[in-house]
Amino acid sequence: MTLQFDETIAADYKSQAQKIRVLSETWTGENVYCPRCGNPALARFPNNRAVADFYCPKCHSEYELKSQKGAVRDKIPDGAYDTFVARITSNHNPDFFLLNYDASTLSVSNFWVIPNFFFTPAIVEKRKALSLNARRAGWIGCNIMIGAIPPQGRICFIQNGLAIEKEIVLSNFERAISLQTNNMDARGWLLDVLNCVNQIPTSEFSLEQVYAFESELQARHPENNNVCPKIRQQLQFLRDRGYIRFLGRGRYQKLF
Ligand SMILES: [Zn+2]
Repeated sequence: MTLQFDETIAADYKSQAQKIRVLSETWTGENVYCPRCGNPALARFPNNRAVADFYCPKCHSEYELKSQKGAVRDKIPDGAYDTFVARITSNHNPDFFLLNYDASTLSVSNFWVIPNFFFTPAIVEKRKALSLNARRAGWIGCNIMIGAIPPQGRICFIQNGLAIEKEIVLSNFERAISLQTNNMDARGWLLDVLNCVNQIPTSEFSLEQVYAFESELQARHPENNNVCPKIRQQLQFLRDRGYIRFLGRGRYQKLF
């Protein structure tokens, strides 16, 4: 896997944005395998297709590519807010590829895949409506809050300029699949409780330490009046999927 963009293919493009789009799409098409089935190459959809950019000819999974220049940021802009939330909640959104590149060397510094089942409306931030003077007055875009997605759902192909072994990427993806749930409320709870567990710095922890997030979780799920039982239910789910172990007497151990 080369990390270098092939500059010659974009020599004819004047606009920097177009240039980067061509370079990053070509690089992805030539270097990235399907994280769901391991197929060595992905195929490109024709440009301007509404949703995805790539698909796997073997397992038919779809991928959307987002490129970012410079340092890794916690949020990335996407299209219309309503459309994006509708896509997520319909469970028809593609997995996301995030490519982060160094503009001075034109090389890839980081590349992740975020499985589609890690997206919830809570990680989509509504932007301010465009002003009346704008060409698309009133249009509301969104930002995807990448930083709010648990690390278990951000699977690295390339980290700080180093490619991770394919077997490790595939096994990390497979492990993430065990967290898949298509019910949006269940998904929100699971990812929120996982985020709480991730914030506890030690590998062993107690139920009380998770209960400490009760008011934060209540604020995120105002319609639910039984936050503590919900927390215990999610911990059981995480145990059943092999992410934590119950040690007894309200003690747990992380296995990730
Ligand atoms: Zn595949």
